[in-house]
Amino acid sequence: MSYRRKKHHKGILHIKKSHRTKRRTKDLDEIDEDLIEENVKQLLNQEIDLDKPGAAQHYCIHCARYFIDQKALEDHFRTKVHKRRLKALELEPYTIKDSERAAGQGSFVLPKKRKIETLRTEDDINKDSSMKVDE
Ligand SMILES: [Zn+2]
Repeated sequence: MSYRRKKHHKGILHIKKSHRTKRRTKDLDEIDEDLIEENVKQLLNQEIDLDKPGAAQHYCIHCARYFIDQKALEDHFRTKVHKRRLKALELEPYTIKDSERAAGQGSFVLPKKRKIETLRTEDDINKDSSMKVDE
């Protein structure tokens, strides 16, 4: 029997990823909504959900991702992905007013830059008060 190599593009990751829905995360504008204070509180104090990684107790709002434990979450806060996401969220999304301005009504104002900081629960902050943050 001769060995015949199957060619079904197993290695093309970006194609596979776009078809995958399980790990699909939120879009930036959805995350923007999560950054409203009351939503933040809710997301950082989620009920224990055993179907979610880490029972939904370690959540990164900016990346809309669950982590298995506090250490994984802290590690994630230091990664490039997370920092890049904070940068991306610094610009407020376009509003109707912005589009009116762009259409020549009113004066154009550049989108406001916000200071986006890693959000954690108060418990975490107390626990990690000795931890140094590298900026
Ligand atoms: Zn993150």
